[in-house]
Amino acid sequence: KKIIITLDGYSSCGKSTLARQMANELNYVFIDSGAMYRAITLYFLRNHINWKDPKEIKKALSEITLEFSYNERSGKSDMLLNDENVEALIRDMLVSENVSEVSALKEVREFAVAQQQQMGKQKGIVMDGRDIGTTVFPHAELKIFVTADPAVRVERRFKELFEKNPAITVEEVKSNLEMRDYIDSNREFSPLRKAADAIELDNSNMTREEQLELALQWAKE
Ligand code: C5P
Repeated sequence: KKIIITLDGYSSCGKSTLARQMANELNYVFIDSGAMYRAITLYFLRNHINWKDPKEIKKALSEITLEFSYNERSGKSDMLLNDENVEALIRDMLVSENVSEVSALKEVREFAVAQQQQMGKQKGIVMDGRDIGTTVFPHAELKIFVTADPAVRVERRFKELFEKNPAITVEEVKSNLEMRDYIDSNREFSPLRKAADAIELDNSNMTREEQLELALQWAKE
């Protein structure tokens, strides 16, 4: 029987990687909900949307189409914003610096959550994010709350970003993670929380293989 699996947690806990690997093993669809918020943020920045104005937000959202497209070469799904592949652009620091503020907007959450729930109509999905087990799929069969030591998270994120941009500093990465975690946990609408029925997975001292094995075991139970 195919189920819905949710992975929530702070930034850079390795949620997306684990979710993708689980989906591969189980033959499920993987959805990176953070990519959707990042694409919306990119659109807002590019079009200089004043996000203090609900009317402007609504108009902007009505112009946005989000889609995932499987990339044979990378074996991952790329984010398409109005048919443009923005997968690389949405990982930029400029997007990371603004995404939590944009994600906190009520209109933006309603827009993204509705689409995520639509994707969940087909069973057999693994979705990662911040509010997937609490707000998007409160009745998901398996909920995992991923945590890791803040220092471990900064190091992992730094390594990832440094490959693409050698000018980046550890300090920059650290303050961005702290800021996002703070805004994500303290916003008014569906803040980041561990669902009461979620299993906690602290992967500070675990390899990717160990995490995958454990998570697949939970999925089979
Ligand atoms: O998962 P990722 O780190 O790419 O997400 C980027 C940002 O998008 C998060 O810091 C958070 O502000 C927002 N987000 C959210 N709800 C989700 C997924 C991501 O608010 N379900």
